[in-house]
Amino acid sequence: MIDVHSHMQFNAFKNDFDQVIKKAFENGVEIIINSSTSLESSNNAVELAEKYENLFAIIGIHPHDADKVEVGWDKELIRIAKSSKKVVGIGEIGLDYYSHSSNGVVDPLIQKKVFIRQIEIANELNLPLQIHNRQAGNDILEIINDKLSIIKMDPPGMFHCMSGNIEFLKKVLDLGFFIGFDGNITYEGLAKGEDTLLPDLVKNTPIEKLVVETDAPLLAPIPYRGSRNEPAHVIIVGENIAKIKNLDKEKVEKITTENAKKIFNLS
Ligand SMILES: [Zn+2]
Ligand SMILES: [Zn+2]
Repeated sequence: MIDVHSHMQFNAFKNDFDQVIKKAFENGVEIIINSSTSLESSNNAVELAEKYENLFAIIGIHPHDADKVEVGWDKELIRIAKSSKKVVGIGEIGLDYYSHSSNGVVDPLIQKKVFIRQIEIANELNLPLQIHNRQAGNDILEIINDKLSIIKMDPPGMFHCMSGNIEFLKKVLDLGFFIGFDGNITYEGLAKGEDTLLPDLVKNTPIEKLVVETDAPLLAPIPYRGSRNEPAHVIIVGENIAKIKNLDKEKVEKITTENAKKIFNLS
């Protein structure tokens, strides 16, 4: 199984990092891809990927950090990408219009500018996109459709931690993107501001287009909800996908692993 979106470089794992990844690999996780939110976390993700064979890095600026970058950030991101063969994508990038208690909503114009620049960088470097969307689906689609002429990666990448409605999901699939699901597919009821249950999105995503992720340390699946999430729990995400789609666990594992390898060019 491949966890395509984790944050092992975050402080939450600083004291027991080795045990956590050991447990993941012992439980059947084959590869962990750590996604980034800032230049600093990008550097840290690359550092880990250079140290451990089965760890890879996706580097980028999260929309919530879009107002914290300084002049020249894009050149630095390109430098980091070129510094290691273990960099397999640009992310997590996108738009986030959910008002967080810590910093509200970052100015959408700044978010869009940083998102667009990173789409350009990804295509200069031939790297797939890992997109973060929270209640900003229409604007994300508008930007991607606008930039279609420069997006030459095939597949173009994936939407991580899918949310939104079926119509949005279909548009994302039509653009060729893969869809990532996390432990929150095990939560009861609708998330704040959403109108479609996550299991319904799972049902409407062909298994050939689906990948699994944890977003660790966040979004621990039931029965671990509320505690620190970790890559080993991606197995639970896979089991729940199997249940929802009425497929064998083994089939979900095999196909989602192939999908992840295809998106991120892993052999
Ligand atoms: Zn995200
Ligand atoms: Zn994340």
